[in-house]
This record gives sequence, structure tokens and C-alpha cells, in this order.
Amino acid sequence: MKAIIIGGGIIGSSIAWRLAREGVAAIVLERARIGQEASWAAAGMIAPQAEAQGSGLFFDLCLAARRSFDASIDRLIAESGVDPEYDPHGILYLALDAAEQAELQGRARWHREAGALVEELTPAAARKVEPAISPDTVYALHLADNRRVDNRKLTHAYAAAAIKAGADFREGVRVDSIVAANGRATGVLIHDGAILEADLIVVAAGAWSHELRGLEADRVKLHPVRGQMVCFEARPQLIAPAIFSMRGYLVPRRDGRILSGSTMEEAGYNKSVTLAGLDKIARGALAMVPGLGELPLREAWAGLRPATRDLLPVLGASPSVAGVIWATGHFRSGILLSMLTGEVIADVAMGRRPAIDLAPFSAARFANQ
Ligand SMILES: Cc1cc2nc3c(=O)[nH]c(=O)nc-3n(C[C@H](O)[C@H](O)[C@H](O)COP(=O)(O)OP(=O)(O)OC[C@H]3O[C@@H](n4cnc5c(N)ncnc54)[C@H](O)[C@@H]3O)c2cc1C
Repeated sequence: MKAIIIGGGIIGSSIAWRLAREGVAAIVLERARIGQEASWAAAGMIAPQAEAQGSGLFFDLCLAARRSFDASIDRLIAESGVDPEYDPHGILYLALDAAEQAELQGRARWHREAGALVEELTPAAARKVEPAISPDTVYALHLADNRRVDNRKLTHAYAAAAIKAGADFREGVRVDSIVAANGRATGVLIHDGAILEADLIVVAAGAWSHELRGLEADRVKLHPVRGQMVCFEARPQLIAPAIFSMRGYLVPRRDGRILSGSTMEEAGYNKSVTLAGLDKIARGALAMVPGLGELPLREAWAGLRPATRDLLPVLGASPSVAGVIWATGHFRSGILLSMLTGEVIADVAMGRRPAIDLAPFSAARFANQ
């Protein structure tokens, strides 16, 4: 089987690895460079309990995604030769006032009901986990088995493992449309007018996925949600866990950098860093760990989260064109969902039943919208 994957972000790269391992001739077509969009801009949290806003379908998907990391990360490291810094320090989720405490206590309840690991901490107990946290902390959740990675290295790891398994990554190739005959995809039309043939097409083009012509009947619509990020220089291990609050988050890297984010903005396809964005992130960071105020600023950037109308990913076969699979719309959680997405899309491609029910994530849900 020959498969074309449109988009070389973390999602396309993960899928390429899984397909290549199955013996599929996988070709990733990336219009610019591999892994330079949302997958580069992210913080790298593998944090189902910090991401989901309530129990149910999406939370269950996120929990399965974290388990998928635990099951496959060693194999990815071995097959790629790249260490993506999968980190075991967990997340400390702080409440800085009574309203935030009430919200987090509610979360602890539905986390527990769903079988997730969560510990409720007094301020003194939270300070034992991380002494640098604000004296204004009134309560905290310890999410000990939530993780983090260096998302740039993780994207690189998927791509390197895919290439070693035989996948072909082509940069500077923009796909304009799906080519189909009798309702079945036969290939793609690229920017220079050439047609590349394939048995299977996977759409993993992030916030640009809906621009591809030929899939209009699926009514999949993406919009970009800008997230800004600020990066400080610090000594390694200055803070050990990632720190979360309603005001933002802090994610340490192994080399000492601390990433602080983020904003959620409707700004079209504009990746500017703004003064208002920096102000919001800086206030959030200082509220969580006041001691960061003296750290030198290293850089700031922004990226575009791929969001669907209902903010859920689109995973599975196209309802309108046979031989096309959607794998997009991962919004705030594409790093977390990357391992599982590769797994389940390979299942669909190979005609196996995926370990999780993909029906709620089908593009069919947009049919009447
Ligand atoms: C500030 C920020 C922080 C985040 N933090 C986290 C986090 O901590 N944890 C988490 O799980 N998620 C996080 N996310 C979300 C995560 O980054 C995204 O969900 C994920 O990167 C989406 O991956 P993707 O491969 O679908 O998209 P992208 O990385 O955007 O890749 C899509 C690729 O498709 C290419 N492309 C587009 N159109 C075409 C075409 N026509 N032909 C060929 N190629 C094309 C693009 O050039 C691009 O390289 C964050 C996002 C942002 C912006």
C-alpha cells in the first residue's frame, strides 16, 4: 500500500512512523519544513488532567493518549535514536484564591471518578513538592502521572523513526487538492501541477486542513487559535514539576529553560507576539512562582492551534471520499494526542478496529452543520 500524508507536523510524523512500521510506503508532503508550526510552538505537556475541562469522551481520549505514551515511548526512543525528554515529574496545579480552590476541588472529584490519579494538597504539602511556588497558594492538585516532553524533539523522534522504517519526507511540497475517481481518492495534486498517486491519503495539515480542495462535502472547518509563549533562562531543576493554574502554566526543560504560556486568541493566521500577550503570560508566571522575576528573558513566539467548531479532533475515514482519512483538529492537545493518533490512524488504514471508538470523532458529525 502507498500512503500520502499531507502535513509534516507532529501528527503527520507520528502517523508516518506507524504506517511505515506496518510496511506501508508512507510519503509525508510538507509545504514548508517538518515540524515548524503548532508542533514547534507548543509547551509539550502530556497532561490529560490539566487539559480536559470536564469528564466524558474527550477526557477519556486524553487519558488513553497518556497511557499510549507510557506504552510506546521506549520503542520510539529506541527506533529513532532521539530522546524527547519524556519527564516523570508530574504537574502541580495551584489554586491562588478561594474560587480557584472550589474549581480544583470539583476537578479532583471527576478526575477520581474517571479513575485518574489525583492528590489534593494543602499549601504546606504543595511546597514540599515544589518549594518555589507562591505564598498565595491556598490549595493544589498533584497530578503525579501527567508528563511533559520537548515537543520539538518528539516531532523529530517520530520523523526519524519513520524515516528509519522507510518513510519518505518531502519538504517544500504543498498539496492543493485530492484527486478522486468514482468517489475514491487516487492521489493528490501538488502546487506545481503534478499529480502524485496513492492508495490512501491522510489529512494532517493542522489549522490549514480545510483549505485542501476535494473534501468540501465533509464540511470540516478549522480555525487557528493563537497561543503565545515566553521562554526564560534558568538553571536546570530550578522548578521540578510543571506548574499549572487558571492564570497560565510553567513548563521546565531539561537544559534549564522555563516555558511560560499561553494565550488563546482569535487572530487569524497571524503568529505575532504582542505586548498584551506578554503581559498576560508574565503576570500568570509571577503569580505562580514570584521568584522568576529576575530570570533573563530568552525568547518569545506564537503558534496556531488547529480548532474545529466543537474543539474536538477529527479522526477517521472521510464520509465523502473513500481512501481519505482525517487526522486533524487537535487544538490544545496535539502533543498529548500524537502517540494515540498515530496508533488509531494506522489501525483504520490497515482495516483493524481501533482500541478506542472513533465514531464521536468522525467528520460525519459536521454533516448537518
Ligand atoms: C502555544 C501553544 C502551546 C501548546 N501546548 C500544548 C501542550 O502543552 N500539549 C499539547 O498536547 N498540545 C499543545 N499545543 C497544541 C499542539 O501544538 C497542536 O495541537 C499540534 O501541534 C497540532 O499538530 P499538527 O501536526 O496537527 O499541526 P501543525 O504542527 O501545525 O502541522 C501541520 C503541518 O501541515 C503543513 N501543511 C499545511 N497545509 C499543507 C498543505 N496544503 N500541503 C502540505 N503541508 C501542509 C504545515 O506547514 C504544518 O507543518 C499547543 C499549541 C500552542 C500554539
